[in-house]
Amino acid sequence: MSKQPFVLVMTALALLATSVPASAQKDGREALRLKTVVIDPGHGGKDAGCVSRDKKTYEKDIVLDIATRLNNKISATFPDVESIMTRSDDIFVELENRAVIANKANANLFISIHVNAVEKGTTANGYSVHVLGQSQRQGNDLYSKNLDLVKRENAVILLEDNYQTKYQGFDPNDPQSSIIFSLMQNAHLTASLTFADDVAKAMGNGPIRHSRGVSQDPFWVLWRTAMPSVLIEVGFMTNPDDLAVIRTEEGRDAIAQNIFMAFCTFKTRYDASVKVDREEPQPAPAPDPQPVAVNPDAPFYGIQILATGKQMNPEDPFFHGYKPLEIQAGKLYKYIICRDTSLANVKKSFAKVQSVFKDSYLVKVTDGISAPVR
Ligand SMILES: [Zn+2]
Repeated sequence: MSKQPFVLVMTALALLATSVPASAQKDGREALRLKTVVIDPGHGGKDAGCVSRDKKTYEKDIVLDIATRLNNKISATFPDVESIMTRSDDIFVELENRAVIANKANANLFISIHVNAVEKGTTANGYSVHVLGQSQRQGNDLYSKNLDLVKRENAVILLEDNYQTKYQGFDPNDPQSSIIFSLMQNAHLTASLTFADDVAKAMGNGPIRHSRGVSQDPFWVLWRTAMPSVLIEVGFMTNPDDLAVIRTEEGRDAIAQNIFMAFCTFKTRYDASVKVDREEPQPAPAPDPQPVAVNPDAPFYGIQILATGKQMNPEDPFFHGYKPLEIQAGKLYKYIICRDTSLANVKKSFAKVQSVFKDSYLVKVTDGISAPVR
């Protein structure tokens, strides 16, 4: 397994070396390949991110340099891939706008790059890769093992104007407010985790090689993106060894190179899966039970399979042939299937739906507002 991605990458690079005929470019398959990646250097401008203990090195500068190197490597190797940076200068970009940039570009992949830090007195080191999700539970709490990290990265919001309105009351200093993330699901979780694994593996060969693993955490910047998305903490500003690496050009370039190798692996797999899907269409899954007609004015029950910041096409393969009801709640779009006035009937379908949509849950819809059924 360890050698396979490398072989695939080399195959992809070899194929790129030969020119692609114009006819192939117009092929529908070509249009479905990984065409656009958005690289997001964290922080910038008035937001320095974390700072080294001697105050000489800022996260915003380190991540901009690594992101620029990654961008250059992708552009040089894949001229047909559009690589977009959310910032290419030392400017402040609001968290929400980073996702907007990616969504407007219809990006196929979003890579956010950061540097970690801890309080004085600890020697934590290494890299970690994160995808959006509920943090791991400790007991009955939603507290994350990465809680301090999540709070610090989300705290950027406090520097933005009108953040209370814009982020719907989300308070990055209140860990419980991250509970809002528990009410949404991640349509691209599998692909995000796959790429996160690619990154974690590739970075194990780098100058900072201690892996802190892949985890799901409620990072705001990953919430609104409508494509596979990861956030990488390349190392610790507060660890002398990690800091020594990211302070050198060689160190930063090696980190960028490893993320680039992960990108190659992901792109090769992405393009190949598109090809297979197009040539051997999967039989449509039987999406029964279909919704029964319900009176939208009367309360009814259903199964919420997705809540997302971007409106979905009801024909999207994500829905596996189900015909979801769309309910808009603020900036969120919620998708509900198996609607019925009888909760007992909905419950009969729940196990089957959960086998496809792991994070789905029962809801009651009253006056167009859905609420979880306890
Ligand atoms: Zn950061």
